[in-house]
Amino acid sequence: ARKFFVGGNFKMNGTLSSVKEIVDNLNKAQLDSSVETVIAPPALYLLLVREQAKKEIGVAAQNVFDKPNGAFTGEISVSQLKDSGIDWVILGHSERRTILAESDQTVASKTKYATENGVSVIWCCGESLEQREAGKTLEVIAAQLSALKAQISDWSKIVIAYEPIWAIGTGKVATTEQAQEVHASIRDWLAKEVSQTVSDETRILYGGSVSEKNCKELSKEKDIDGFLVGGASLKPAFVDIINCKA
Ligand code: 13P
Repeated sequence: ARKFFVGGNFKMNGTLSSVKEIVDNLNKAQLDSSVETVIAPPALYLLLVREQAKKEIGVAAQNVFDKPNGAFTGEISVSQLKDSGIDWVILGHSERRTILAESDQTVASKTKYATENGVSVIWCCGESLEQREAGKTLEVIAAQLSALKAQISDWSKIVIAYEPIWAIGTGKVATTEQAQEVHASIRDWLAKEVSQTVSDETRILYGGSVSEKNCKELSKEKDIDGFLVGGASLKPAFVDIINCKA
């Protein structure tokens, strides 16, 4: 069975003291041990969070570069993450694809570099409102997945996050049917294009306005294996999302 996974993407939010407070809250809380929890603070706070968070909580970076080291001002390497005890990275988030202009190929290359060097990846995909309204949702996601497949052979270190762009930070969560439909199609794509095993074993998370109010319903869908949470991961209610199955 796929272990339920809840990621917290803090994005570019927080201060030393607010991040410490979030970690303290999580440390004090009773977290469902059947759920894998991973939090992604801004890069500047990764070391602090890794030092302070209890060890059952994983820590993710929000980006990494696809070169071993060298003259790449402003970037962080996979080996630096590993050296700092960071086992995860979020790649392909729509904010990086759109605002920072990362192509499908760049995202795939970073994913390859991270997974081949021992850092697991929360790989994000999703369609815009225009693409959904034009009936192109599945086509867009298949193209994003195909670019990944072109560079990846080992899928065991990848968790897929389906994040419809229109649902991110908008309070407009996908319906359980909308989310399940896309999750099922991602799983079908994996079965056809990669293998039945990868299809059966890969966790597919939903992200976009997940809250303590809507998580329980979403979590009941058969192809929803967890969440990637933005805004609500900064609040105490994040614990309720982690524990939504309990
Ligand atoms: P919100 O939960 O704030 O909508 O953000 C979702 C997201 O982008 C997580 O990566």
